[in-house]
Amino acid sequence: IVSREVQPDNTVVHVRGLAIGGAAVQIIAGPCAVETAPQMQQAARLVREGGARLLRAGAFKPRTSPYRFQGLGVAGLDYLQEAAQQQGLPVVSELMDIRLLDTFLEYDIDVIEIGARNMQNTNLLKEVGRINKPVILKRGLSATVSEWLMASEYIAIGGNHNIIFCERGVRSFDPAARNTLDVTAIPLLKRETHLPVIVDPSHAGGKAWLVPALSCAALAAGADGLMLEVHPDPAQAWCDGDQALDGAAFGSLMAQLRPLAQVL
Ligand code: PEP
Ligand code: MN
Repeated sequence: IVSREVQPDNTVVHVRGLAIGGAAVQIIAGPCAVETAPQMQQAARLVREGGARLLRAGAFKPRTSPYRFQGLGVAGLDYLQEAAQQQGLPVVSELMDIRLLDTFLEYDIDVIEIGARNMQNTNLLKEVGRINKPVILKRGLSATVSEWLMASEYIAIGGNHNIIFCERGVRSFDPAARNTLDVTAIPLLKRETHLPVIVDPSHAGGKAWLVPALSCAALAAGADGLMLEVHPDPAQAWCDGDQALDGAAFGSLMAQLRPLAQVL
């Protein structure tokens, strides 16, 4: 279903009037996790002021250690939607458990993120295939491009073709960065599939200072958008603070990106 052989023209995924996969590059930004109502409100304001058109934040976090902050849960969805509505932004949030799909629909989460750790959770993929909300399908930690494409078929087969691929770096031999951004995957996917491809340079690099270079590389390679971690006070972040841009760094990255692409 997702192959260009089946559909030669690009699919444009629409999120409340925004087009992902069209002429304009779309920027999704926000904190790794929802922490408190004020943190979420400040983050949402920075995101809108910086010029991003979609707000991201996780209420359910797939942490490596079960002893670390796991996300606020349903209360986090409340804070996220409250902040998003104040700024008039659609929201992206990660769904980890089929049992929470109805809750995500009740909260009207605009875009459902399937995280790297769930890329091959085939039951979860089939369930999000039955609804009509756009889905961001992140690349698995060590998934090949063909495994990733097949994972997207699990969603598409249920009738939901509003799928956006998100390259977020892969495991490599080198611990110098958190992951290795696979820039090559962008043109590979654009050739293989008609669906949009975005890049998450934050989880790829793992360091805020790496994010601008990786963002430029992603757009130069043809990405349809970026998903960036932005936090009002990265040093105090409950999760992924090292890779979060503060308001000033986010603002200057957006200024750097504008000449490179039609960033709305
Ligand atoms: C995230 O987007 O916050 C996240 C957990 O990313 P990934 O699934 O790519 O690790
Ligand atoms: Mn994160």
